[in-house]
Amino acid sequence: RPEPDARRSETPVLPGGAFVEGQWQSADLTLDVRDPEDGTLVGRVCSSTAQDVRRAIAHIHRHLRAEPWPLRSRRQALEKATRLLGEQSARFAAIIAAESSKTITEAEREVLRCIETLRLSAAASNELSGSTLDFDDSTATGNKIGWYSRKPVGIVAAITPFNDPLNLVAHKLGPALIAGNGVVLKPSERTPLSGLALVQLLLEAGVPSGRIAAIVSGPGVAEALVTDEQIDLISFTGGPRTAERIAATAGAKKILSELGGNNATIVCADADAVSAADAIVAGAFGVAGQNCLSVQRVYVHTSLFERVVAEVTRGTRALRTGPKFDRGTDVGPLISEAEARRVEEWVDEAVAAGASLHVGGQRRGAFYEPTVLTGVPAACRVLRDEVFGPVVTILPFVEVSDAVHAANDSEYGLQAGIFTQSMDLALAMAENLHVGAVVINETSDVRIDSMPFGGFKKSGIGREGVRYAVHAMTEPKNTIVNLG
Ligand code: NAD
Repeated sequence: RPEPDARRSETPVLPGGAFVEGQWQSADLTLDVRDPEDGTLVGRVCSSTAQDVRRAIAHIHRHLRAEPWPLRSRRQALEKATRLLGEQSARFAAIIAAESSKTITEAEREVLRCIETLRLSAAASNELSGSTLDFDDSTATGNKIGWYSRKPVGIVAAITPFNDPLNLVAHKLGPALIAGNGVVLKPSERTPLSGLALVQLLLEAGVPSGRIAAIVSGPGVAEALVTDEQIDLISFTGGPRTAERIAATAGAKKILSELGGNNATIVCADADAVSAADAIVAGAFGVAGQNCLSVQRVYVHTSLFERVVAEVTRGTRALRTGPKFDRGTDVGPLISEAEARRVEEWVDEAVAAGASLHVGGQRRGAFYEPTVLTGVPAACRVLRDEVFGPVVTILPFVEVSDAVHAANDSEYGLQAGIFTQSMDLALAMAENLHVGAVVINETSDVRIDSMPFGGFKKSGIGREGVRYAVHAMTEPKNTIVNLG
């Protein structure tokens, strides 16, 4: 551990633990935020109540129409937020690394991405203009002219997961605000500090307090948010089971959801085994595998199978699991010991069913060693379900069509990777992969914050990626003039 522990001097200084009715609430700071590595208390936030949720929404509802917030001011606020985050990047990285399972290096990378997300949000001010309508293209419309413009949906509920506690919050708040909406954030109760700090920064940058609120709590209070009649759109990122509960309780509200993955990467016979293996190690074990884009299944042509298994095992063995604030650490802890125990159980189940363990398979508290498996029977959870931990399974294939079929054999469809030197082959395979993005000569673990991001099947509904979220968080509204 580096002395005297860099994170202590950067511990978040937040004025309170929730932001409701334009005020930071500093009473009832009863929800402890603990470092998953060693249980150290990192911060205390409010455990919001259903009444707080109703008050927060009603306050935004009152201000939304009463106090117009012009587009130029919205853009200026997001531009200022971009600058402020650049100036405070070290503090934000320390908050992320202290409360989540990211290493300090991974946290720094997330802050850089968040700066980009805020910059893109400011730039998305030019996504709001509409277009004229071609009434004269139809004989039935008579003598009319018209146009449409994009109007904010109203109030957005932003519900976020623990694994990217800052940037995934920005992917909701940035588009919601530039589009002219009000927004109520409910960050993960496991990692709320990064999101609360971002709300504080946005207020400092000029976002009016009548446009934004943040509540922190568990599922009970989240339900009060999801069911409130004055919420117009729910933007959710998290697990599919939570998404199903939200869909069951939300009524007829619009829902955008970014859910899980069980991502495959295919290594064809002509690929470079070493560079593919290096990319697989990076893509499988970043953030201890707690990444919706993580490489979970690798299909390798039989001619390269042993080589790739050996190279991935070698690369995995070289990773250092350890303290998050130690710059020599490659892999930090999971978000909780309970999650590490779950991963341990899934790996043990696969090994008991006949899988071979090449490296890893050891747990120490919330840490789980990066693990490489082969020979995993198809029914094992570590292969079928989203593992969301540092475990990768490598499987052989003979025909490329079988690999594509196997990659598609999942309830998820987020992203996939292909390694081959033949672009013709890669493009033909890409056409048949049922996923939101196919990455050629890289693994599934690639996201550019400006791209339309989301998945097929149970991986979600709709797309994020700033301008796509802006479109989803606005309604095209027609104005039609009858010229008689
Ligand atoms: P989770 O579903 O447990 O929690 C996500 C959020 O939902 C939290 O804020 C939680 O408090 C809230 N929540 C819980 N119950 C709720 C309810 N009944 N109503 C409303 N909200 C409720 O997810 P997690 O464990 O924090 O995150 C891991 C999951 O998120 C994985 O499945 C991962 O793949 C997914 N994820 C997806 C993406 C993506 O963009 N596709 C990105 C990151 C994470």
